Amino acid sequence: MHFKPTGFSRRLAITLALAGMTSAAAPVWAQQPQAASDGVQVGKMSSLRNLVPEEQLEAAATQQYVAIKQQAQQQNILLPENHPQVKRLRAIANKIIPQVTRWNPRASDWKWEINVIAAKDVNAFCMPGGKIAFFTGLLDGLQLTDDEVAIVMGHEIAHALREHGRERVAKSTLTNAGAKLAGIGLSALLGIDSNLTTAATGLGANLTMLKFSRDDETEADVVGLDIAARAGYDPRAGVALWQKMAKVSQNASPQWLSSHPAGQNRITEMKKHLPAVMPVYARTKGVALQALPPYRSNVKGIDPVS
Ligand SMILES: [Zn+2]
Repeated sequence: MHFKPTGFSRRLAITLALAGMTSAAAPVWAQQPQAASDGVQVGKMSSLRNLVPEEQLEAAATQQYVAIKQQAQQQNILLPENHPQVKRLRAIANKIIPQVTRWNPRASDWKWEINVIAAKDVNAFCMPGGKIAFFTGLLDGLQLTDDEVAIVMGHEIAHALREHGRERVAKSTLTNAGAKLAGIGLSALLGIDSNLTTAATGLGANLTMLKFSRDDETEADVVGLDIAARAGYDPRAGVALWQKMAKVSQNASPQWLSSHPAGQNRITEMKKHLPAVMPVYARTKGVALQALPPYRSNVKGIDPVS
């Protein structure tokens, strides 16, 4: 997700919100006609990325993922297969993964993996080739609903589907003539969040962090909404998710705040794309667009999203 609340440990004080009554006014997205080609539209992927062989990138990512899992296991922080959070995430992934080939046909061959690491990091990632990890600091700290998990998962998977990591590696090789597309030089650029390098757990301590551009982040947000909607998860949960993030940031260190100045922009951008994805969501749910109730998160102080 490229949250960077390194070392952030405070949890949201969370209580169940009382269910209020729905607002009478029809939301903007419900007033718009359904587009002929539904869902979100994004531009072409950068052709620069073709400089990097995808097989090589995915193989390196797999290697890194295995190493991260091994380290987590040694530290006893890799949640077991039968852990409720692992089962829950894999169930959500099972609904999301069938939707991904629309965005990258190659992804139908990926060997998907979903794991949960018990660490306080407010983070998650999906490496090239479909290797996903969530941290309990995000899942439990923000008390994510299934819809909100799907938004995060959609976002992370979108980075992989749109090959943002591959593009970054390609750009890096252009600007760094000596760069080698192998070994640590490559794995250092796979899109692993800095949290992995700096977390108290020390996981992947020798990896360098890849920072996606703001454009990549926006694209991942937008494509993630589309993927979540097709899988039957409410895209409006993205708005609630970033409201939760804002609440966390109120209690966080100045360092955290400085790395997340764009929360409100992300909410604005997501709201802009709701008219494109809400009809998709309604169709997946088998209900009329206008019949969808507002999205309600599970914590006090997060407004229902119409
Ligand atoms: Zn991201």
